[in-house]
Amino acid sequence: MTLTQGVPYLAIPGPSVIPEAVLRAMHRSSPNIYEGELVDLTKSLVPDLKWIAGTEHSVAMYIGNGHAAWEAALSNILSPGDRVLVPVTGAFARFWADMADGLGVEAQLEVFPEGQPIDPDRIEAILRADTAGQIKAVLAVHTDTSTGVRSDMAQLSAAIRAAGHDALLCVDCIASMGCDPFEMDAMGVDLALSACQKGLMTPAGMSFVWFGPRAAAARDRQARVSRYWDWQPRVAPEHLAQFFDGTAPTHHLYGLRTAMDMLREEGLEAVWHRHHVMARAVWAAVDAWGAGGDMALCVPDAAYRSHAITAIHLPNGGALRLQDWCRDQIGLTLGIGLGRDPREDYFRIGHMGHVNGQMMMAALGGIQAGLVALDIPHGTGAVDAAARVIAEG
Ligand SMILES: *Cc1c(COP(=O)(O)O)cnc(C)c1O
Repeated sequence: MTLTQGVPYLAIPGPSVIPEAVLRAMHRSSPNIYEGELVDLTKSLVPDLKWIAGTEHSVAMYIGNGHAAWEAALSNILSPGDRVLVPVTGAFARFWADMADGLGVEAQLEVFPEGQPIDPDRIEAILRADTAGQIKAVLAVHTDTSTGVRSDMAQLSAAIRAAGHDALLCVDCIASMGCDPFEMDAMGVDLALSACQKGLMTPAGMSFVWFGPRAAAARDRQARVSRYWDWQPRVAPEHLAQFFDGTAPTHHLYGLRTAMDMLREEGLEAVWHRHHVMARAVWAAVDAWGAGGDMALCVPDAAYRSHAITAIHLPNGGALRLQDWCRDQIGLTLGIGLGRDPREDYFRIGHMGHVNGQMMMAALGGIQAGLVALDIPHGTGAVDAAARVIAEG
């Protein structure tokens, strides 16, 4: 007998739960792509996208997932033979470095210890040693979704300036945008990118690159820029087709418009606060489970934990057995141990986007049931500990 009938919770770190209002907004016939509502709606997204990233500069929209944004960003500011520095706090930094490699850009990896954030002092030292200025950009992942490590982008930007180096700071905010505090201009970030299926609560298919004046100048210095990825026509479009270099992602635009309205209505501070509470509820539960068993958070220092996703170690294949049980028995899908070795010893809880207190309590209660069902040793009081965090709000 299973208990899976009911509203499922896909508690993975993207795609995230899609609000009913977003789904409803997308349920319509194809709109006119040449004039009228869709044109105005698309233009109206630009200020909201700048708002959510904390920038007064430019944003280019793309049809594509996060990998598209990675390629778009690199294609505008780099040429084959250029070098980039990639601080590694998890698998996503390596994936982005691999995209650079595919474009003929040499990625110099700097790997930080497991569960630790980017150390700005080490980045500063590497840049100081690069007296010839060969490193054109630092590609940093704000929240690495494989480990749940969140690094401090303001510190990183200060380190680049302290080194007196010209490298652009480019930040992957795919997991963090609309979840963890991020302010591109205030943090001194030259380029940020994200996609719509995580904190922005829209089905996968759109992504964004925000860029400031230093990144714009780097684009203008390139001998050539790929026609499709070129952000220039996209930020100064004369007609709708130029926003996307072809047909607009019609239904995604309606969905994203509604998602942005929801975020605006809640307010960014409140959105960030909600994610922090959800994250602390998860941490409190895992600490309590771990007190009587082998379960542990992958990031020891709470200051460097993502508020959007929590990665958890549960050895001896416990993590995989727990994922299977929760999915097959109670309709709760947990995130896999992506990029981890061994994969079956890690799981992740996505608490990004459209997630509220009762969903969080349900996910944690579901995991509690799984630990009991599977006879995995664990401490008591985890659900109580989470409830106290939620109760305090
Ligand atoms: C999800 C994610 C990506 C990849 O996005 P796709 O849409 O799957 O291409 C890249 N970076 C981070 C930090 C992510 O969380």
